[in-house]
Amino acid sequence: MVSYKDLGLVNTREMFAKAVAGGYAIPAFNFNNMEQLQAIIQAAAETKSPVILQVSSGARKYANQTLLRYMAEGAVEYAKELGWEHPQICLHLDHGNSFELCKSCVDMGFSSVMIDASSLPYEENIALTKQVVDYAHKYDVTVEAELGVLAGVEDEVSAEESHYTRPEEVIDFATRSGCDSLAISIGTSHGAYKFKPEQCKRDPETGRLVPPPLAFDVLHEIEKKLPGFPIVLHGSSSVPQEYVDIINAHGGKLPDAVGIPEEQLREASKSAVCKINIDSDSRLAMTAAIRQVFDEKPGEFDPRKYLGPARDEMKKLYMHKIINVLGSDGKAE
Ligand SMILES: [Zn+2]
Repeated sequence: MVSYKDLGLVNTREMFAKAVAGGYAIPAFNFNNMEQLQAIIQAAAETKSPVILQVSSGARKYANQTLLRYMAEGAVEYAKELGWEHPQICLHLDHGNSFELCKSCVDMGFSSVMIDASSLPYEENIALTKQVVDYAHKYDVTVEAELGVLAGVEDEVSAEESHYTRPEEVIDFATRSGCDSLAISIGTSHGAYKFKPEQCKRDPETGRLVPPPLAFDVLHEIEKKLPGFPIVLHGSSSVPQEYVDIINAHGGKLPDAVGIPEEQLREASKSAVCKINIDSDSRLAMTAAIRQVFDEKPGEFDPRKYLGPARDEMKKLYMHKIINVLGSDGKAE
């Protein structure tokens, strides 16, 4: 048993309470490798933003859960070296799908876990979430649950059909499950292809897809039912078109990739939404930078010469999200 507190990590309780009260959101960035982690920590340290490092089941398979946990431990020390005296870094399991998996993360030093039982019938979702909460809270680990179904593909999580969270269920769910935060479905979606062209309009000038707006009415209903309760948005990449263009200009092929407009995420951040998950955007930043080097310098074969620029581009993206979209800069001085 390793306690996250001994690793210098924090859970989400205080972060979220401050974010809800302060009208901003905490960034939750997924990481799978060293360059991504460096970029996240550099951006958080420079802006003094609390940050959630997310490990998905895909990341656990790719990089190994133990290695990722030690990297997060190293990240705390790295943050201090960068001059961030009191780093507020949370290590979070993204989309845990069983009690055993959540327990193993609690036991090895994660400070927060998500149990995603949203595909199960309502009562089973509550029961499994409560089982995880009962265990995690013994160690002061916070638990995110999910109600409603998001469309799209994210590592092992995929759903054809989405349905919005039903506001009439949230009080019962949050009370009986005991979860600390709730991921809801209001039209965000996993991946870089969040909407099918037939769900969108097309801008006549640029030819780009314009996605349907998020269901703010559903969000406001939920806020009214659970005042001050931390709400989480998954699948909230914006798919910056400049990256899509760079990728496509250098041999890539991402036709009609489209995400959630940043103005809408900024608006959501001002409400009870206090955690916004961003993964695809950093994948796009990394891919754009690497493609550009490969295309422009075909003789280059030192990985540092293309992973370095990729890291710099991701850092730029993370800082932009923190400062201009979520408003979490300066909240972890
Ligand atoms: Zn997700």
